[in-house]
Amino acid sequence: MRLKKLTDNIYYDPHQPEVDRPMLAYLKGSRMSLAIDAGYSDNHVNDFYEHLNQSGLKKPDFTAITHWHYDHTFGMHQIQGASIACCRTNEFLRKEQQKAVDLQYIDKLKTADPCFKREYHNKQSLNIVLSDIEFREEIILNLGGLTAKIFQTVSPHSEDAVCIYVPEEKVLFLGDSTSEDFFNGGYMDHRKLKQLIMMIEDTNCEFCVLSHTEPLKKGELLEYLYGILQS
Ligand SMILES: [Zn+2]
Repeated sequence: MRLKKLTDNIYYDPHQPEVDRPMLAYLKGSRMSLAIDAGYSDNHVNDFYEHLNQSGLKKPDFTAITHWHYDHTFGMHQIQGASIACCRTNEFLRKEQQKAVDLQYIDKLKTADPCFKREYHNKQSLNIVLSDIEFREEIILNLGGLTAKIFQTVSPHSEDAVCIYVPEEKVLFLGDSTSEDFFNGGYMDHRKLKQLIMMIEDTNCEFCVLSHTEPLKKGELLEYLYGILQS
């Protein structure tokens, strides 16, 4: 399968609802490339790299992480090149590593989440790693004709939300940041959502890319988010 092309230099491997695998993106600079999110598992990374190969794209030099949740990070040990995450994400991943010292932890995740069970059906262990590069607030990559501004943002979904903005192509990657907090009973913090909406409004982007749906036009996403605020 080939990757889908969003703009001149941005491609993505669509999300897979049946296993809850998030979309993985690829930014192709003239000198370096950046993947967005490592994915669920080594299988997810391998599938993504196979799709890159079929699309005539080389493996990424860097992989930026949008937040610590397992469907975005547990494939990190398998990536090529260097991973980049904010310090908060690494703090959460360190806690996950501690939980995984208990060899039953993988079974607990399988029991709690049927998608996790499908993704890990033939595995008995986890390999959770921290990122190679850690930043606070923001880090900017010049990939060659393409800039990736990777920055922390307020989000109702997780405390370590990171977005990636590519000004040349007017694309904003939001991870799961617009969603409710599934680890807090699905709580939607309207104050945090308002702050996030303000950031999106202030960003000069055409497309907003969420991890578990197809890319949206900025106006479409904002309309949807205003609707949540009113509910
Ligand atoms: Zn998430």
